[in-house]
Amino acid sequence: MKILAICPQCGARLPVYAADAPATVRCGRCGRDLPLTITSKLRGDRSIDTCPVCKGTDFYIRKDFDPKVGLTVVIVGAFVSAVFYWFGRDLIAYAILAAAALIDLLVYQRLGDVTVCYRCHSEFRGAYERTAPPFDLHTADVLEVEYERKIGRR
Ligand SMILES: [Zn+2]
Ligand SMILES: [Zn+2]
Repeated sequence: MKILAICPQCGARLPVYAADAPATVRCGRCGRDLPLTITSKLRGDRSIDTCPVCKGTDFYIRKDFDPKVGLTVVIVGAFVSAVFYWFGRDLIAYAILAAAALIDLLVYQRLGDVTVCYRCHSEFRGAYERTAPPFDLHTADVLEVEYERKIGRR
């Protein structure tokens, strides 16, 4: 399992492999030492029970989507389409636009799920069993405030 630990101090993203994770990882940006509590379930890539960064037990699942990839497909599609439109080939232009939208949709559907910690936003990627519910705004509001108080950001 690959963990993307988020530094509570500066928000830097620190990738760690659960299987051989150290007890602490030093943030490359602000130099803060981040203690990691890796449970045996995390280490064995079985399930996510406790967040190694904030020790929270509330997670949600979201699509592992990189918005930049989707945007590139749409922009390239629009550009190629505009060229055909310029030469009076409207039908081809529309077809290309439709194809770009379709590719975007297919890419989105084939994406894996990533589990995210409500409190510190650390991300977990691996073959583990997905048990977390989808994102809930109310839960996020409550838990984020709680966490930010704890780390002294509010
Ligand atoms: Zn940091
Ligand atoms: Zn966390």
